[in-house]
Amino acid sequence: MIPALLSNYAPTDLSFEKGEGAYLFGNDGRRYLDFAAGIAVTSLGHAHPNVVKAITDQAAKLWHVSNLFRIPGQEELAAKLVDATFADAVYFCNSGAEANECGLKMIRKYFSENGQAERYRVIAFEGSFHGRTLATIAAAGQDKLLEGFGPAMDGFDHIPVGDIKAVKAAITPETAGVIIEPIMGEGGIKVVDPEFMRALRTLCDEEGLLLMFDEIQTGMGRTGKLFAYEHLGMVPDIMSSAKALGNGFPVGACLAVEKVAKCMTVGTHGSTYGGNPLAMAVAGAVVDTMTEPGFLDRVTQIGGHLKQSLNGVIDRYPSVLEELRGVGLHLGLKCRVENTDLLNALKSQGVLAAKGGDNVVRLLAPLIIEEQQISEFVEALEKACEELV
Ligand SMILES: *Cc1c(COP(=O)(O)O)cnc(C)c1O
Repeated sequence: MIPALLSNYAPTDLSFEKGEGAYLFGNDGRRYLDFAAGIAVTSLGHAHPNVVKAITDQAAKLWHVSNLFRIPGQEELAAKLVDATFADAVYFCNSGAEANECGLKMIRKYFSENGQAERYRVIAFEGSFHGRTLATIAAAGQDKLLEGFGPAMDGFDHIPVGDIKAVKAAITPETAGVIIEPIMGEGGIKVVDPEFMRALRTLCDEEGLLLMFDEIQTGMGRTGKLFAYEHLGMVPDIMSSAKALGNGFPVGACLAVEKVAKCMTVGTHGSTYGGNPLAMAVAGAVVDTMTEPGFLDRVTQIGGHLKQSLNGVIDRYPSVLEELRGVGLHLGLKCRVENTDLLNALKSQGVLAAKGGDNVVRLLAPLIIEEQQISEFVEALEKACEELV
């Protein structure tokens, strides 16, 4: 007999009863400081009052009607996101992979609508991550995601990140666009060189290609801006969002500029659950909270403080920690020991973090983190390092 639950995950033997702000309360009777945040999802912390109120009020009124009917919450949230970003229109779905699927379909549809249906290929980057659907595993530059699932979906060309000449060389008459994470999250918080990002924008403009950012992990305040592209002094044509957009309620969004968005006409795309009233109420509360004056500046300030403290720990434990990467509160500690050993040592100190590629421990503190909790984290990290020396 196999377990009733599919064995596709390998969870730590720990479960939780409830969460409050930056803390989780385990069924083992212990309190944990949560720097995993459900993998950059619960950015407002657990049980944030604005989000609890939004979902509770909406749950008592109306959950779902389908997209056969107008959903005012979609129109309101789309307007807020358009106001706050480069985009002219927004499509709502239920997850990150779906948001990327929509963006990838948009790239193809744009060229098809403009009489160039032969242009469908997308340049993507080695080591990237875009989700687990058949199209998004083909888009990601990781063979292990594709193993066992037959021929990869056609239409992606992979290039090492940071090499603009290689991107240029990969462009053919069939190339339609480029998809990139401004910071490779699952890959180990690898910040892509801003110069390379700007060069990509210029190249896309010269070649008439669409530039799509996957901001599923970097977006919604994680880097101290609502979206990471704001650090770069440039904008993409298409952008996916999910993770922290719902603070734990499943919701995703694909944002696009007008020339692209207008190609997605009636019947070209859709989702039964996509943008239902419950999801819109929650995501609306998240966006409102994060765009309150001072909220994002505080993320930058406290992220700087955390970074400074962490660099001190790296200096004291060079045999355990190699370097700190990231922007704002999107941080990764590259380890000299096994990252899982550091994660376990942190857990025994009452602190949770998330594993990342390239032997990195991702530190994804909730954006509402306070100085006191940063001190608590740093103290736990010191003890964990001491144990591993
Ligand atoms: C998490 C993530 C995804 C996939 O999102 P799901 O909600 O798991 O489908 C895609 N891209 C990036 C950059 C992510 O971090």
